[in-house]
Amino acid sequence: MGVPLDSREAQAEEVVDRLREAYPDSTISLNYSNRLELLVAVVLSAQCTDERVNSVTEDLFETYRTPEDYANATQDELADAIYGITFHNNKGGYLQGIGERIVEEFDGEVPDTMTDLQSLPGVGRKTANVVLQHGHDIVEGIVVDTHVQRISRRLGLTEEERPEAIETDLMTTVPEDHWQQFTHLLIDHGRATCTARNPDCADCVLEDICPSSKLDSEVDLASGEPW
Ligand code: SF4
Repeated sequence: MGVPLDSREAQAEEVVDRLREAYPDSTISLNYSNRLELLVAVVLSAQCTDERVNSVTEDLFETYRTPEDYANATQDELADAIYGITFHNNKGGYLQGIGERIVEEFDGEVPDTMTDLQSLPGVGRKTANVVLQHGHDIVEGIVVDTHVQRISRRLGLTEEERPEAIETDLMTTVPEDHWQQFTHLLIDHGRATCTARNPDCADCVLEDICPSSKLDSEVDLASGEPW
């Protein structure tokens, strides 16, 4: 079991330093070439792998190029076009509604505020954060996906369980100029080493500062649950 640094701030800074060294090219793994494509890809990625999203959007973006294209399609047409994506029926409806609202309320442009983005169907704070960061260069918060949720808790950076509460905690501990990168680093670490079911603590660059390392313990101290 590793020993975390004295304060959560110090722990967060050390985590960022080490993961930046381990994953120097860490960035978003969804493919897109403009803000609308980014928004669509992020909406599709909820509870679906980025790999699957990228394989579906390759054709989708050829056919649907403008907000009007989505607004003028039916939910069924869009659901067919994104077949293979988790919850494709619901998400087909979201895409149609997003197109319609962008045309009617936002002059055909993807909005650039948290409030306006969250007024779009299927867009919550996480999606809005990603679009602001990567589409508009506005970093207003920390994207908390399932990897960030799990690993932040394991590392003792938060004891919260809900993404919104975790984000609030992280925003007080992670240096602001690393808010965007923090997410990508934890996602890379979650995919490569600190997986949900079988974290490879023996090969982890954070092992000595991680209170949940299972090297000397069979208990996940961050959650209190057995591994
Ligand atoms: S792999 Fe193990 S040691 Fe590394 S961060 Fe995850 S739980 Fe901690």
